[in-house]
Amino acid sequence: MIELTDVTKVYAGGVHALGGVSLRIEPGELVAIVGPSGSGKSTMLNVLGTLDRPTSGTVRIDRYDVARLSDAGLSALRATRIGFVFQQFHLAAGVRAVDNVADGLLYSGLRRSVRRKRAAAALERVGLAHRLDHEPHELSGGERQRVAVARAVAGEPAVLLADEPTGALDSASGAGVMELLRDLHAAGTTVVVITHDRDIAASLPRQVRMRDGHIIEELTT
Ligand code: ADP
Ligand code: MG
Repeated sequence: MIELTDVTKVYAGGVHALGGVSLRIEPGELVAIVGPSGSGKSTMLNVLGTLDRPTSGTVRIDRYDVARLSDAGLSALRATRIGFVFQQFHLAAGVRAVDNVADGLLYSGLRRSVRRKRAAAALERVGLAHRLDHEPHELSGGERQRVAVARAVAGEPAVLLADEPTGALDSASGAGVMELLRDLHAAGTTVVVITHDRDIAASLPRQVRMRDGHIIEELTT
């Protein structure tokens, strides 16, 4: 369970990116966050995922008030409970797919050989068992994003947060990545997807629409 209550975010320089947002996401949900560029979607996702702290308001994850956790506690919560996927993949260049995924488990306390095995299993899960030794530049955009998804879920997080995961992909690859996110959701992961693609948003069971740092509408289908 993730809960934002009256969350604001004012960036240095005075940009009011979030103007008092309240949102509750239950375990097992599949949620789209939609809205125009600059409406505060990424800021909200970063706050949801504890990558950034709000200026005011509270963020609760698994009933923990995030503001009360130390940086170490926060890192541990993030590492064990939350997976991230970004538009630009954020894979390490010159590093094989299996190691890109295994490195996501560095803080798990698992031995290197076990991390590798988990990584290979995660890559198999996203349909890339035949690409373990490929470096990012040897993969298509869609394959790179699937490696990023494998890295995000290798530690079996409860929650997957994806910021425009199809934004840099052609429509066929994007559809493949969305199918993957649906499969993960069907297997029990809570999935939150930012998208400015109306068709993708409309295909998800819950849509949260944002504008100018506020939630302006919610739809459940
Ligand atoms: P979206 O993801 O919906 O495009 P963002 O959350 O990235 O929106 O941005 C919301 C607003 O906050 C925008 O006006 C943006 O310019 C501003 N902003 C985002 N990140 C920063 C930052 N690190 N410093 C200052 N302003 C920022
Ligand atoms: Mg954004």
